[in-house]
Amino acid sequence: RLNRLRDPLEGLDPEQRAAASAPRGPVCILAGAGTGKTRTITHRIAYLVRQGHVAATQVLAVTFTARAAGELRTRLRHLGVDGAQARTFHAAALRQLRYFWPRVVGDSPWDLIDGNKLRLVGHAANKVGLPTETEVLRDLAGEIEWAKACLVAPDDYPAVARARRRDVGHPVERVADVYRTYEQLKNDRRLLDFDDLLLHTTAVLEENRGIAEEFRNQYRCFVVDEYQDITPAQQRLLDAWLGGRDDVTVVGDANQTIYSFGGASPRPLLDFTRRYPDATVVRLERDYRSTPQIVELANRVISGARGRPAGSGLRLVGQRPDGPQPVFAEYDDEPAEAAAVAQRIRDLVGSGIPVNEIAVLFRVNAQSEVYERALSDVGVPYQVHGGERFFARSEVRQAMSALRAAAAAESEGPDDLTTAVKRVLAPLGLSDRQPAGGAARERWSGLHALYELAEDLAATVEKPTLMRYVAELDQRASAQHPPTVDGVTLASLHAAKGLEWDAVFLVGLAEGTVPIQHATTEEAVEEERRLFYVGVTRAREHLSLTWSLSRTPGGRPHRRRSRFLHGLVPEDQPSARPRRPSRRRAGTKTSCRVCERGLGSALEIKIGRCVDCPSDIDEKLLERLKQWRSERARELNVPAFVVFTDATLLAI
Ligand code: ATP
Ligand code: MG
Repeated sequence: RLNRLRDPLEGLDPEQRAAASAPRGPVCILAGAGTGKTRTITHRIAYLVRQGHVAATQVLAVTFTARAAGELRTRLRHLGVDGAQARTFHAAALRQLRYFWPRVVGDSPWDLIDGNKLRLVGHAANKVGLPTETEVLRDLAGEIEWAKACLVAPDDYPAVARARRRDVGHPVERVADVYRTYEQLKNDRRLLDFDDLLLHTTAVLEENRGIAEEFRNQYRCFVVDEYQDITPAQQRLLDAWLGGRDDVTVVGDANQTIYSFGGASPRPLLDFTRRYPDATVVRLERDYRSTPQIVELANRVISGARGRPAGSGLRLVGQRPDGPQPVFAEYDDEPAEAAAVAQRIRDLVGSGIPVNEIAVLFRVNAQSEVYERALSDVGVPYQVHGGERFFARSEVRQAMSALRAAAAAESEGPDDLTTAVKRVLAPLGLSDRQPAGGAARERWSGLHALYELAEDLAATVEKPTLMRYVAELDQRASAQHPPTVDGVTLASLHAAKGLEWDAVFLVGLAEGTVPIQHATTEEAVEEERRLFYVGVTRAREHLSLTWSLSRTPGGRPHRRRSRFLHGLVPEDQPSARPRRPSRRRAGTKTSCRVCERGLGSALEIKIGRCVDCPSDIDEKLLERLKQWRSERARELNVPAFVVFTDATLLAI
């Protein structure tokens, strides 16, 4: 029933073991996607606790997304570690600030800005005389966030922004004015934004020796997952937590840095050993997540990256048995793409893959809608953005209040939790059998997710009372950690970091979306490539990569497939080849050996005859090659080009 008695080093390979069982002190795991970094740190925490090196309550593990923090907590609980904290940086800071605030400030904590941040930035922009259209305000708000994440004060902003070539379309002095005014307005209203949580907590610890000592007696062992995405503000908070001690384990993969636009940098990860020369450093190369076919593709995606920092050049080695080749497909328009993806998902579900093991990942959330519709059309349940809005669903809110009331009336002593929960949820719509479809099924799936959580709790804690269960739900709600709802996950690539599914559909892989249109500098494009790499490495078994030439049906096919697909798509090399062509160096000039049509300067040419000349090869194959040529010509926006019967690549 429990993994409690399992050896925490069981199920780890020798390198993972070395990291998990290293003595307390600095440890750095530098490794690629799917190599077991997250697995290793959870086992390390279990090991340290089980060996009595540290109490579970003295461990603070941090990561960057609520869902990843939830994943850490779940894994820890399954290893029998109860009481270790696993939170996002922001959630950890908020909790600490709430605790210390009365002693530092003396009155009730300020409120958190939530939905009205943009309004406040709008007031500030208005005072400064900058335009207040939503787009402009978003850019300004993003820039203020960047400055705060990089610990750049309003007065220093102009110089730093100039040096770092920041450009939000307004003079840097004016942006600094907006930043300054925003801070003032926020203080006047006794509000804190997300970045303030980190900055204020750091200041409290740096400026109050007594509080810092109290904190450091409480927390002694720190673990950071996804360390490649740490910002200067987060690093400073981590340093304040550590206070000169060095009991810190960090894990990360520089190739998965996807928040540098927000001030994150892999430098602290790559410089860790310089800072802690005695650190235990472990590199992992075995990929346990994906089939060798997917691993191979991932290696090719990332080997095309430019300007990779030293230390990030690890090559993944697949450990799993062979699986299907990744599938590439092009569609005329977005609805056609979504319909095909939905159909394929239905087939996979029909072949026995659970819906929870399938994800559709896209670059921007606006892409979600067309997939929601397509999945509804084929009757496959889904959850948007990994279910972040779960706690706002009406049946969940009703269930929470009914459960709270039942918990308050609960009599003492251990009791059967799952039966009690079922009794409360049945009148709200939880039946033993799943309704066939529509709203009743949606409702049922939310309630059923709550029920499954009760089952999970009953299996992992000793006295699973209703009260304990409700506390768990409250905690999950405040950490935005939804339970798993039955359904295909629709999520952005950013939100998918650290997660994995049996089948992953990377959709909308067209220029302008991947890389995103506003990625105009080389650095920005490289970040987009890493994001694409994160997407590719989420898949265990099935990976599908699709794009469409136009957004709307009947629209002009003006879009091209993503540049990141270059050289990956098997169509680039028509597979039905009559003969093995001889290779010539890229850039050589050549012509058809029958009609001698010249090609000009070619990308990569194989000698042969073109598809328009009499040929001894199969009619059908010729037809396919011609068809392929006309599609490519349309995509490349050229009238025609020469294709060789025995070519692997063509010239324009
Ligand atoms: P990412 O960089 O994407 O966050 P990661 O390095 O954190 O990846 P994990 O999520 O820890 O990787 O592991 C990937 C998958 O491989 C998980 O399903 C995990 O359970 C499995 N795994 C890791 N190590 C081993 C191992 N030694 N034996 C078997 N499976 C393993
Ligand atoms: Mg991980």
